[in-house]
Amino acid sequence: MKLVSACLLGINCRWKGNSSTNDNVIRLAQLELLIPVCPEQLGGLSTPRIRQEIENGDGESVLGGKSRVVNSEGKDVTAQFLRGAEETLRIATMFGVREFIGKAGSPSCGCGSIHDGSFSGKQIPGSGVTAALLHRNGIRLVSEDTLP
Ligand code: SF4
Repeated sequence: MKLVSACLLGINCRWKGNSSTNDNVIRLAQLELLIPVCPEQLGGLSTPRIRQEIENGDGESVLGGKSRVVNSEGKDVTAQFLRGAEETLRIATMFGVREFIGKAGSPSCGCGSIHDGSFSGKQIPGSGVTAALLHRNGIRLVSEDTLP
């Protein structure tokens, strides 16, 4: 049993109101139980929503209070991201999940790559806020783009 970014399974929960269906994830769902989660929705953000990125850091620095998450209009949405991460961890703990498959580049779900905070599409190494919290709690992170 694994936790997975819901948008990879075809759920229309992305900021644009669409999904990021990943065929490898869909195939994996036919072989084992995947639990879909959308941390940004769990944190109370609407769908569709204004695009958000981590400013000057990554999920680890947000958890440490050294960076924040802002939307493209400059509004601070760090509290919603932290809440979504905590709710996602609650689900992972409830089901004893040991692995999370995350959407590449996401400020919540990115596992090893996130957007750089400039809203230009550029990516940098690092994980999103939820991915970082799951990792802190011993859950293995797998980026969608590394699935076989
Ligand atoms: S928060 Fe995660 S699951 Fe939700 S839309 Fe973004 S990448 Fe997908």
